[in-house]
Amino acid sequence: MPILTLDDKNRLTLPAELLDQIGLKPEERLKVESDGAGRLVLTKIREPLTGENSSGENSHNRAELDRSIQVIRGVGLKLAELLAKKNITTVEDALYLLPVRYEDRRELIKIAKLRSGERELFTAEVIHCGITATKGGRRYYEAVVGDETGTVTLKWFNFNQRYMKGLWQPGKKVVITGDIVQYGCQREVHHPDVEWIPPGKDLAAVMAADPVNFGRTVPLYPLTEGLTQKTIRKILKEVVDQFAPLVETFLPLELTDRHALLPICKALQEVHFPGNDTEPEPLNHRSAAPHRTLAFDEFFFLQLGLALKKHGTVLEEGIPFRVTHKYTRPLLKLLPYALTSAQRRVLTEIKNDMSASSPMHRLLQGDVGSGKTVVALMAALLAVENEYQVAIMAPTEILAEQHFLNLHRYCDELGIKVCLLTSGMKGKAKKTVIEEIASGAVQIIIGTHAVIQEKIDFKRLGLGIIDEQHRFGVIQRGAMKKKGENPDILVMTATPIPRTLAMTVFGDLSLSVIDELPPGRTPVITKVCGESQRQGVYRSIREEVSKGRQAYIIYPLVEESEKSEMKAAIQMSEELANDIFPDLRIAVLHGRMKPDEKETTMRSFKSREIDILVATTVIEVGIDVPNATVMVIEHADSFGLSQLHQLRGRVGRGSEQSRCILLTGSRLSGDGEKRLRVMEETSDGFRIAEVDLEIRGPGDFLGTRQAGLPEFRVADILRDARILEQARVEAFALVERDPRLASPENVRLRAELTRRWGGRLELAGIA
Ligand code: ADP
Ligand code: MG
Repeated sequence: MPILTLDDKNRLTLPAELLDQIGLKPEERLKVESDGAGRLVLTKIREPLTGENSSGENSHNRAELDRSIQVIRGVGLKLAELLAKKNITTVEDALYLLPVRYEDRRELIKIAKLRSGERELFTAEVIHCGITATKGGRRYYEAVVGDETGTVTLKWFNFNQRYMKGLWQPGKKVVITGDIVQYGCQREVHHPDVEWIPPGKDLAAVMAADPVNFGRTVPLYPLTEGLTQKTIRKILKEVVDQFAPLVETFLPLELTDRHALLPICKALQEVHFPGNDTEPEPLNHRSAAPHRTLAFDEFFFLQLGLALKKHGTVLEEGIPFRVTHKYTRPLLKLLPYALTSAQRRVLTEIKNDMSASSPMHRLLQGDVGSGKTVVALMAALLAVENEYQVAIMAPTEILAEQHFLNLHRYCDELGIKVCLLTSGMKGKAKKTVIEEIASGAVQIIIGTHAVIQEKIDFKRLGLGIIDEQHRFGVIQRGAMKKKGENPDILVMTATPIPRTLAMTVFGDLSLSVIDELPPGRTPVITKVCGESQRQGVYRSIREEVSKGRQAYIIYPLVEESEKSEMKAAIQMSEELANDIFPDLRIAVLHGRMKPDEKETTMRSFKSREIDILVATTVIEVGIDVPNATVMVIEHADSFGLSQLHQLRGRVGRGSEQSRCILLTGSRLSGDGEKRLRVMEETSDGFRIAEVDLEIRGPGDFLGTRQAGLPEFRVADILRDARILEQARVEAFALVERDPRLASPENVRLRAELTRRWGGRLELAGIA
């Protein structure tokens, strides 16, 4: 061990062997402290932690990354406009414009070795070239090029004659990149990428002079009209060289070590311009360290936010409800059935949350027909027993009405006042309801988002129940919370949500799952039928009706508007009534009918005064007629999987065997076919949800933009599900250790989190 002494500038220099022993990486530094016992302690850290200096440096880097893309050499107004089409306005935006694919340009291949179906890079000499035409008379430009091992024909079907003539001459040398196609014994490349080798120069020199485009694994970017790969590659090279080094890594060092991640700046460099010996395949699968690092980083910060949020509700003061059984017990007596064990288990979880002193934040998942409504009602009664009000919010008026009709029967008997509040309500009726909510005269308020609007004041809101949550977002949850003093929140989903998505969109909630259907249900038999089987389908409807059963015929959105949907349904019902079933009782139900008309129709269907109900998708959720045993869905291929599952859930509610017939046109898309097969194979809502998510992707699965799905630049919750899981575990563990992110090494995490997610996650009080 050498003895260390200060030099004349008061610096202590550690010998290289010592640094080797410590294993210090370039991005790491040593923090020096005295341990109070006369010794120096060196701690390995990444980047300075706090202090004037570092935060000054950070904000400087930040400002640099936020600069307009026009600071890049060669990017003027025109290019900037093109880039803006790809949502790239700042330097940082450009850094996160990731290649869609990578191409192996490390080695040139001899022409004899070119593989058809592959994208290859080779060099050749022009043998002859000129305009020719196909047998059909279509003109194209052709150049035959070759090396000592063979020839390839290049073809352009769109070309500028003068330009090509000036450029292409026998004897010139080129480097070609393109997809090799085999036609008989001839190999061709259509519209290749061409690089000219100036006369007298040799290939090695040309390639060496252009290290961005040759001699490496080369990135291919998503293109916009008017932007070539070469241009965008050149811009990105500048951006990465100048700005990637300024991007800081915030992930704690022990964490990046554990998951074998790179510093972010390195990941960005590698993701755009991989090192010389990087294989393209892992990059194309997005499974290599650079992509993993960027995805982990994105997921980690979101999960950190969700973990803090969840922890925040734990720290908050809520309402500790007392279980008195005043209403809940009588309700159990009123119900015509006993609760399933899954319902009881979930209720225990809810009761535990509600009687705790911190506010409940729970997500209730259960398949269609699993009996979520009665669980919600039990929770509501628990709050009412404690003299608090309950708000139940549904996404549509018809659903709110449905809940109202279902629940007020029971509440009337229990002596509890329930009201309905929708945006459609006007004048005096609305005014009365609003007053009753404010005075506390009404205990359970059921409605649409009207419930959380500003002018609605609750006397004492204790519980907010949000049904069909995936049409609402985080913001609505927040608004509901503000209607009381930290009321409990119970969120219910209509369709099961796959785990990965639930972790992202509902990651700050506790989860309850009803994984069992009420007893006595016979699984629905599902069959896909083509137009040619229509008469048979009608026969089976008739058969069921003759046995005293009822049928639904569902008519979809043929066009985008509700009006045309209504027309189609009405026309359909008339046709059926006149031509097919003149002896049966047929009625129609659609979204344009007045609430009381809808209710009358539904009532007569329930009381068996109607045999066949021709309906639009308004019956998608909530409607419950156990005697209905057939459902025919017209144009079934035009529905999403989850929607089909919801619709099908309307039959099979009694003990009789039910059937669901999916009618389709003659030609099905690949996805359409896949959806219908899944419907035939399974009735497991969770399984269906997973396939639906796979087919549609997260955004469409959730239905709307405002569904609260965070936008990721790199990460993909399907492809990177495992990384998501890891990032979640790490983030939650970190918040468990340091719930306020107050320790010196976490302070910068907190600042960065606020910068990225602060507004969107409503992370109050953590900044
Ligand atoms: P969802 O979870 O789709 O909202 P619902 O709450 O509408 O399901 O319940 C579906 C049907 O099952 C309703 O008719 C309801 O009365 C009935 N139901 C609920 N729980 C039970 C149970 N434990 N036993 C028998 N039927 C039940
Ligand atoms: Mg429901």
